[in-house]
Amino acid sequence: MIVVLKKNITAPETAQLVEKLKGAGCEFQVFGDGEPIIRIYTKQPLLSKDFFLSQPGVQDVLRITPPYEMARRDSVGHDSTIRVGDISIEPKHFTIIAGPCAVESEEQIQGIALQLSRSGIRFLRGGAFKPRTSPYAFQGLEVEGLRLIRKAADQFQMKVVTEAVSSAHVPVVAEYADVVQIGTRNMQNFQLLKSVGKQKKPVLLKRGMNATIDEFLLAAEYVLQAGNSQVILCERGIRTFEKATRNTLDISAVPLIKQLSHLPIFVDPSHASGKRSLILPLSRAALAAGADGLLIEVHHQAEFAKSDGPQSIDFRSFDELLGSLKELAPILGKSIL
Ligand code: PEP
Ligand code: MN
Repeated sequence: MIVVLKKNITAPETAQLVEKLKGAGCEFQVFGDGEPIIRIYTKQPLLSKDFFLSQPGVQDVLRITPPYEMARRDSVGHDSTIRVGDISIEPKHFTIIAGPCAVESEEQIQGIALQLSRSGIRFLRGGAFKPRTSPYAFQGLEVEGLRLIRKAADQFQMKVVTEAVSSAHVPVVAEYADVVQIGTRNMQNFQLLKSVGKQKKPVLLKRGMNATIDEFLLAAEYVLQAGNSQVILCERGIRTFEKATRNTLDISAVPLIKQLSHLPIFVDPSHASGKRSLILPLSRAALAAGADGLLIEVHHQAEFAKSDGPQSIDFRSFDELLGSLKELAPILGKSIL
C-alpha cells in the first residue's frame, strides 16, 4: 500500500502517523523526496484505506497488490492443477464437462451419461438443486437428483459436477458430487462460499452475472481462505445492454484471469449465449483464448427439457463440436480431456 502525503504535511503530523503505524505493527518505509510517501509492506492491510484518508496530512492511498492474496497468480507463480479423484484439470488439457441443465429422471441422466461417455467425456454435469428465476419453474429433483446423477456417473466411470444452492445443502451435495458448483446467482453468497471452502471437494465457481473480475477473484478468495485450494473458475457471460444473446460472453476475461490468477478458468458457452447455434463458435473461441475447459449443456430431447432447452445441444452437435475442438487443440498445445 502506498500512502501519498500532502506536500505541506507538518513534521508533527508525520511523526503522529509514524507512531500510529508502529502501534498497529505495520512494516513501512517513509520516502521524503518529491511527493512524500509511506510505503507499507504488510501483506494483509492492518489499517484500512479509510483510516489513512482520515489522518491529517494524507492525500491519497493506493493499493499496489490485488486484494485477493491467495487467488493471485504470484502467490503460486504457475497454473494450479486441480485433482478430481484420478483425473487432473491442468493446463496441458482442455477439459470438457457436459450434461443436462437439470437431472430430470433416471432414464434421462443414464441415457445422457451413456452417450457422453461413448464420446470420451469424463465429467457429467446436471443440477439437482436448481436456482431458478421463477418459483414456478422446475426446482430440481434435489437429493433424489443427486442420487441419480451419482448412479449414472458411476456406471460410466464419470465424475459428477452439480450445484449447491445453500450452506445447508453443502454436506449432502459434497457427499454425492466430485465437484461442487456454485452458480452465478450465488457468487457473492459469502456464507455459501465459506461452507464450500470448509469441505474437501473441488469447487467450480461461476462468475456472477454482474460481477467484475476483481469481485469474481475475491469470491474465489473466500473459498481458498476457508481452506479449500481446489477452485475452478467459470466465465458464463455477464449482463450487458445486449439482448440478442442471453448474456454476453466476456471472452477477454479468460486471458486476463490467466494473467491475474493461478486458478483454472473454464467457459460456459451455454448460459453465456442461451442459443444452441452459438455453442460451437464460442467453444472454439474459449479454447483459442486459453481457457482450461468448457461446461456445456447437452440434452437428448432439448425441446422437452425442463430447463434451458434452447441452449442445449444434442449428441450429434456435441460430437461435431468435439471433433472441431480436437482439430484446434494441438495447434494450441493442448489435448481434449
Ligand atoms: C447451470 O449451470 O445450470 C446454471 C444454473 O448456471 P448459472 O449459475 O451460470 O446460471
Ligand atoms: Mn442451465
